Amino acid sequence: MGFPARLAIPDNVVRIAQKLETAGYETWCVGGAIRDNLLGLENHDFDLTTAAPPEEVRRLFKRTVPVGIEHGTVAVLDRDNRAHEVTTFRRDIRTDGRHAVVEFGVSLTDDLARRDFTINAIAYHPIRHEWRDPFKGAADLARKLIRSVGDANWRFQEDYLRILRALRFSARFDFRIHGGTLEAAKANVQGLSQLSAERVREEWFKGIRTAGRVSKLLTLWIDVGAARIWLPEIGGKRDEGRGKSPVDNLPRDPVLITSFLAGDPASLLTRLKASNKDIERGRVIGQWRDKYPDPKHLPAVRRWLSELGEYADDLLALPSSPVPLSRVVSSIRAAKDPLTLKDLAVTGDDLIAAGVRPGPEVGETLARLLGEVLEDPTRNTRELLLARV
Ligand code: ATP
Ligand code: MG
Repeated sequence: MGFPARLAIPDNVVRIAQKLETAGYETWCVGGAIRDNLLGLENHDFDLTTAAPPEEVRRLFKRTVPVGIEHGTVAVLDRDNRAHEVTTFRRDIRTDGRHAVVEFGVSLTDDLARRDFTINAIAYHPIRHEWRDPFKGAADLARKLIRSVGDANWRFQEDYLRILRALRFSARFDFRIHGGTLEAAKANVQGLSQLSAERVREEWFKGIRTAGRVSKLLTLWIDVGAARIWLPEIGGKRDEGRGKSPVDNLPRDPVLITSFLAGDPASLLTRLKASNKDIERGRVIGQWRDKYPDPKHLPAVRRWLSELGEYADDLLALPSSPVPLSRVVSSIRAAKDPLTLKDLAVTGDDLIAAGVRPGPEVGETLARLLGEVLEDPTRNTRELLLARV
């Protein structure tokens, strides 16, 4: 792959680079946006890497946010309040598989050398329109290859998250992982257990959102051994071959897809330290995915909708959902049939006024009335309901 003579860099990014260059600091565009634009994919989110130390970046620009100052990253806000990451040329001098101690005052080539994959280690000068590609990332883009910069074993041991990043990029672009890199990923997979659940969850979720096919991402996680460590509830759901699998037809919702794949979604989502809301959602999906109502029996469908609330759509999205069910659900929703206590034509206060003793009896009576209304929505009038009390 040759380099285009010029890349269209947004004016605001060029302005930031210009200011740093004028102050005497070499500044280049790097990272995912360079890679994506070379692939012909839209990405305006250009990161900058510069010889300027972080304090200089903060001094030169009025509005900055020290987003990762210990690693040399400062976000510079442009005129439109958009943040652009500016990172000082750096080298990792010590790592423990998770964190790095970094050194500034190094060259662009050193900075590119600490990046994870060759396709992520290409630099473009936004003013001089020059390219730097010391690790032949452009050739790997052309050959559709994910390859570690330098020795793959060593690079994964520096930061085990790179193993998951390799799988994500491979599934996203449908690139092969280079032999030595794949072998090293498998050999070092146990190191993934050292990572924090949050970082792993972010990678897994981002992978689901960006994969060409989710089944490819899943196959990679299983083959490399990452699933065994972090997603053991997904054991056997593996898709051989290149055909479309059911998971590829689901909406790109990481919690929904994870819950579909896992034998016990709540336990998996708990391990990944997902939010309580997401864990609850996974629990409901796991509990109901093989208990659908008979679409021909309207009261059963209404009871099911009433019980599931906001999670009904998740269950309707799964391939196990009976085909006619979503049509029946639409008609129930269109008819605005009452489905919750809130929809009842009477309130707890109405019941008390009608003589029900304040306390648990009120709730029990409301629940009973809702049951009757789910059976037959025409019963949902004040008169009929109060007559039943
Ligand atoms: P995307 O944002 O589309 O996921 P990206 O390549 O921009 O992809 P970022 O996480 O935004 O990924 O990181 C920006 C750049 O920083 C990468 O292109 C890579 O050069 C470098 N980088 C990010 N994470 C790592 C890492 N764990 N190890 C080494 N280099 C990394
Ligand atoms: Mg990025």
